[in-house]
Amino acid sequence: MTPLVQVRDLSKTFDVSAPWLNRVVERKPRQFVHAVDGVSFSIERGKTLALVGESGCGKSTVARLLVGLYQPTRGDVQFDGQPTDAAQNAAGLRTLRRRMQMIFQDPYASLNPRWKVLDIVGEPLREHGLVNMSSASAGARGADALKAKVGELLLSVGLAAADVEKFPHQFSGGQRQRISIARALATQPEFLVCDEPTSALDVSVQAQVLNIMKDLQRSRGLTYLFISHNLAVVRHVADQVGVMYLGRLVELSDKAELFGHPRHPYTRMLLDAIPDIHMSGRSRTPVQGEVPNPLNPPTGCAFHPRCPHANARCSQERPVLTVFQGVHVACHAVQEGRI
Ligand code: SF4
Repeated sequence: MTPLVQVRDLSKTFDVSAPWLNRVVERKPRQFVHAVDGVSFSIERGKTLALVGESGCGKSTVARLLVGLYQPTRGDVQFDGQPTDAAQNAAGLRTLRRRMQMIFQDPYASLNPRWKVLDIVGEPLREHGLVNMSSASAGARGADALKAKVGELLLSVGLAAADVEKFPHQFSGGQRQRISIARALATQPEFLVCDEPTSALDVSVQAQVLNIMKDLQRSRGLTYLFISHNLAVVRHVADQVGVMYLGRLVELSDKAELFGHPRHPYTRMLLDAIPDIHMSGRSRTPVQGEVPNPLNPPTGCAFHPRCPHANARCSQERPVLTVFQGVHVACHAVQEGRI
């Protein structure tokens, strides 16, 4: 079966040059950041792909490229077998937007504080004409239908139907994120892009929200792209995991394989930073160094200044993501059998 989402060679470059006059006066060249560089993956229907990496690795840019908030510099995204950039007419774009939705990190910033929950969750229903509000005769009935539909959506995320009359400030952080999820579900999407949906929440609340998302995935057959810097969260939700470093995928594999047999030294470093609650006694490599400046990335393998297995080849030749024992990995040492 064709995967619901297929991403090929996706790249995004941002022009971060100083203003023209400053460049002329200070004799500075233009500057570009390759936020995402040649990323390819696919997501099967009903499954979750998690993208992980430290801050600035490009995972949130991938999320925004997928839902059309940014236009790619290179590469393409196919949704249900159709290229998303082919949906250029208004009707095609509306359909696409209805079928894929995004949940943002900060439930405080993403909900309009002046709107009642009825308006927040009801907006996409009105926008996409999923409740008839237009004619005068349909007005009263339409308002009732909208209220009933929003109430249903709130119930599906563990809130009360009566919450439609409340404002966002009357809810806790976890409840606000549930409102965001209810709003995303309003158009009955097939694909949800979730950008760090729980990282602004207390740890005790995170699990509740993640469990709701998993239940919704099962009951509605949803497909998720899940962006997170937290491998413990990823372990809870993902079927497949992609590890990103400085705009590129360095490892892509099934969750069990990635957590059981991490190949790439960066993946190992990230895993070693998770507390070992099983007290397995395995040797650990502490996280070393910092992510390099993306304006001036290292030559060869971008990870080489931090890598305990780096050699001369690593600093000159960029490794390509290739399949090794069923796992996609971009590392010379793995391909040479050194680790
Ligand atoms: Fe380390 Fe070299 Fe592999 Fe990069 S290619 S991760 S520097 S061993």
